[in-house]
Amino acid sequence: MTSICSIINRLAVLILVLLLAPVKGYTDMANYPDCDIDVSFDIAESKIEGISRISLSAGKEVFFRKGPLKILYIKINDLETEFDQRQEVFEFIPDQDGTIEIGYEGIFEDSPSEYRSDGIASNVIDDRGISLTGMWYPAIEGLCNYNLKATLPRGYKAVSEADEIFQTATETGVEFNFIFPYPVDGINLIATDRYRVIEDNLDGIHLAAYFFKEDLGLARAYLEYSKQYIELYEKLVGEYPYKRFSIVENFLPTGYSMPTYTLLGSSVVRLPFIIETSLGHEILHQWFGNHVYIDHERGNWAEGLTAYLSDHLYKERKGEGWIYRKQIMIDYASFVGPDNDFPVRKFTGRYDRGSQSIGYGKVAMMFHMLRRDFGDEKFFLALKDFINDNRYSKASWQELRSAFQKYFDGNLHGFFTEWLDRTGLPDLNFEDVEITQRGIKYELTFKVSQKGEVFALDIPLSIYIDGDVIKKAIRIESENKSFKFILPDMPDKVVFDEDYDVGRKVTYKEFPPVVGRLLGEKKLLIVKPDHETEIYKAVTDKFSGDDVIIKSPEEVKNSDIKASSVVILGQDNPVIKRIYGKFTPVEAGFHITVRKNPWNPEKVVAIINGKSAEETDRAFRKIGHYGKYSTLLFDEGKNINKEIEESDRGIVYDLYSEPQALDLSAITRLGNVIEGVSDKKIIYVGEMHDEFAHHSVQLNIISGIYKRNRKIAIGMEMFQRPYQEKLDAYIAGEMEEKEFLKIAEYFKQWGFDYNLYKPILDFAREENVPVIALNTSREIVKKVSATGLDSLTDEERKDIPDRMDFSDEEYRTRLKEIFEMHKNNKEKAFDFFYESQVLWDETMSMSISEYLEKEPDRQVIVIVGRGHLSYGSGIPNRTFARTGKSYSIVLIDSEVEEGIADYIVFSSAVKGAIAPRMMVYVEMEEMGFKITGFSAHSISEKAGVKTGDILLSVDDVEIKSIADLKVYLHYKDKGDMIKLKVFRPIEEEAEEEDKDIDKDKEEDKEVEGEEILIDLKL
Ligand SMILES: [Zn+2]
Repeated sequence: MTSICSIINRLAVLILVLLLAPVKGYTDMANYPDCDIDVSFDIAESKIEGISRISLSAGKEVFFRKGPLKILYIKINDLETEFDQRQEVFEFIPDQDGTIEIGYEGIFEDSPSEYRSDGIASNVIDDRGISLTGMWYPAIEGLCNYNLKATLPRGYKAVSEADEIFQTATETGVEFNFIFPYPVDGINLIATDRYRVIEDNLDGIHLAAYFFKEDLGLARAYLEYSKQYIELYEKLVGEYPYKRFSIVENFLPTGYSMPTYTLLGSSVVRLPFIIETSLGHEILHQWFGNHVYIDHERGNWAEGLTAYLSDHLYKERKGEGWIYRKQIMIDYASFVGPDNDFPVRKFTGRYDRGSQSIGYGKVAMMFHMLRRDFGDEKFFLALKDFINDNRYSKASWQELRSAFQKYFDGNLHGFFTEWLDRTGLPDLNFEDVEITQRGIKYELTFKVSQKGEVFALDIPLSIYIDGDVIKKAIRIESENKSFKFILPDMPDKVVFDEDYDVGRKVTYKEFPPVVGRLLGEKKLLIVKPDHETEIYKAVTDKFSGDDVIIKSPEEVKNSDIKASSVVILGQDNPVIKRIYGKFTPVEAGFHITVRKNPWNPEKVVAIINGKSAEETDRAFRKIGHYGKYSTLLFDEGKNINKEIEESDRGIVYDLYSEPQALDLSAITRLGNVIEGVSDKKIIYVGEMHDEFAHHSVQLNIISGIYKRNRKIAIGMEMFQRPYQEKLDAYIAGEMEEKEFLKIAEYFKQWGFDYNLYKPILDFAREENVPVIALNTSREIVKKVSATGLDSLTDEERKDIPDRMDFSDEEYRTRLKEIFEMHKNNKEKAFDFFYESQVLWDETMSMSISEYLEKEPDRQVIVIVGRGHLSYGSGIPNRTFARTGKSYSIVLIDSEVEEGIADYIVFSSAVKGAIAPRMMVYVEMEEMGFKITGFSAHSISEKAGVKTGDILLSVDDVEIKSIADLKVYLHYKDKGDMIKLKVFRPIEEEAEEEDKDIDKDKEEDKEVEGEEILIDLKL
């Protein structure tokens, strides 16, 4: 068999018998031995009996293998020769011309010992028929002129490599003679009594369809399509090389192409898309592989070239070439990694998706780049020359390069070396893509760099200007290069390699989360609930290996999810809620949804759900054919829905968007805003915490809504869930404000001047409007932001939401910008900061939805910082996912951006009471409350307070914390006199030198000093 090619993924993958010595490409038949094969069969016994006669030239070595055959005798020039039956390889160097005759027999049942790596038996003889595509005669090394005679039972029809087939009835059956007057390195034989044959003719080419009776209805279409393909390729690459072409149905699920025919399994021919895709591919192999042979030792160029000019070409003609090429790059990124990458030159045949991505995909991209460089005319002239120069002989990349070189001015050596001998794809990076206005023109500038080995590349770019596209190209041959284009107008965007004309690594935005990315992973985390033992067995069996970890939902940490791609079994698996917040259950026998991993852009998360072990088993078996999809639904093993998540086409840079504008006639007043939001279940009002005017607007909205509906509640970020009872008691009038501020730890947990919120709480207390403590405790947020969610103790975990959605990428990007701006705390990792923000938002969202569940009649007005509301990202979207309740977002004095809120209110300047301050910096120490410094023009400094003083009391009220001081000052006015009692330590001389004294001694030492009274005017 000279070329084998699988039609669909599950089908053929062939490991060809590698030849031990390279054979030079002579086209002169006389240079090759004649090999006459004469076989007959005992079908009931699965037995073949044969005699091979091979011509000998004096001094020229003959070398053959017996494979699974039993050699009965060997005669050289009619003289029996001794041999050892255990021998696998037979070698002779004849001293004179003559003939070697080998008698042999073999038993070929459909048994695993005959299976190739694709799971298809290479030789079978049984009551279904005869399919001999392996070693079924003593296999002579190298090309031979074969002459096959097969005697078969009556009613059998047979196909082999042949320009002509002769049939003669004999006494017991029928004798077939196959005439194939070209040297070839092996032949195959297919026969059965089930064939019905339909014949046709195309300009002297004899066409035939050998189909089983039940599939005969398909034969006509196969013949018609075959004619079209042959005509197409005669135009592109030259005359069809043989006198016959047959489509042959096989009882084994093959998808092979041999000289003069293609051998397709029944399950294959029945697939509706085969005639439009794979049939053409197999026909093109008549030129590439079956006419010019593949020199497997020096690299298989034929699969990539054939795929490019068949499967790809058909898509290209429909305007979908770019989709095909993008898929090549997505597959490469999914299935090829450092562990399994190899240079194209080492490709001999595919054995998995990774090798397919290299030998088919990457090679197809090579030919695409050549074709773009050469233009169609020269490209196909080069291919025709290649065929003419190498017909009936083995060709390699070298012969291909020589053929192309003739039509190329420069030297192709560099291109072929880069693409044949390196692993990986070019990794391009575009930077500083900018527009500068220069007079009435615009200058587009950018920098391109390549990571890793540098490829010479021509990269197209599309510049979009006001609905038009300007196409340009750049050439890069170095690690870095800067470019400049002068444009007539302001461009909207620039897209690099929009049509995937360059073989390259896809960027994150071009790389959708798809099933293939999971199938290509070696390192995986599987999250399996303990009770799910049976339903997902097919999944856990498929994903097994040293780097696959299975954990129960309880055991999974966020750091595990960050570390690898994740498979989550069961759509009710609690881990889904921990990553995406919500998952709408899918009604199907089996489904798989692949999503981006919010913590790791290189990895994905798959949610898999099966109704039963049988559903999972039937569907999951097929998953490999659906690698390019993000979502798949199956019922009873049948695919009922498939979708791909959208991704960018090309590397896109948005340069300009039309400026936003407001129609000022739309400006209205706060009263109308209140009217506009009054029918919403939840009204979010976002503030800057320290702006008194914002709280005044909030109170206006609260009281405005309250006038319409008495059943409201106020949700506040400023109070924490553990203090809800205290808050309720205060609102109910069961305690005084001072006590409330202390036991609700207001100043410790929140800290802003209480005067800012006092009017709202006074209103709530007056009108008995419930206030909901929305926030989580400050300690937890701080801890998560420093050391991550994983670091929480079981106790701390009790009050955090069981669902958190980390998938809002825009929110993440905005938070990242904020994080980068305030990156003064270097211990903080962004991931932890992000976790703390989401925890914060989700907790507040949980508080709102829990409240509404308990009090469904109430309307809730939510008072929080603007950052938790803009674009709906922080709290509103999360609460909507939890409750589905209507809402409006009002932001106060926010920047004006499309989609940022429903309303923006510009506050009027309103002054409020401000608690007086001592204008000191303090620190809590073991000894007490220590003054560490003063703010500018500090009243305390002026009054005589010194750095290092310990504040003991104010007006005889003991001060143990900052909160104590704040509570006290809250009830003072500016201008009031207070009396401070401080302890002032006496500074010891040479304090600096004492620093090395060991700690124990230091602690024992009593600090000396004196108590001082200071009068302070606030
Ligand atoms: Zn192929």
